[in-house]
Amino acid sequence: MGSRARKLLSERRLLKVNVEDTGVELTVSYGGKYERAYLLLPGRFCSCASFYFEVFSKRAKEKCTHLEALELSKGELPQIKVDWEEFKNRIFPLIFKGFLT
Ligand SMILES: [Zn+2]
Repeated sequence: MGSRARKLLSERRLLKVNVEDTGVELTVSYGGKYERAYLLLPGRFCSCASFYFEVFSKRAKEKCTHLEALELSKGELPQIKVDWEEFKNRIFPLIFKGFLT
């Protein structure tokens, strides 16, 4: 397992995000300088560029760093609770940027 995956975990960039009153729990990883975020489906999908280009298209790798870190964590991630407004205003824009870059 890569040291980048370990670093992601030690920097607590991989989180479970509970969106209050929606019953929704998302697994999210912050990238770069926290100016974007990626959405993960455990074991299956990540919205980062590396997943798209190297895992999904080329099949050159099995997982991106985020999925690797998630596996390494065995699901024991820091959890945060946000309300819908906070999700909409703060987290969603970061996920949107993560899809684009
Ligand atoms: Zn990823």
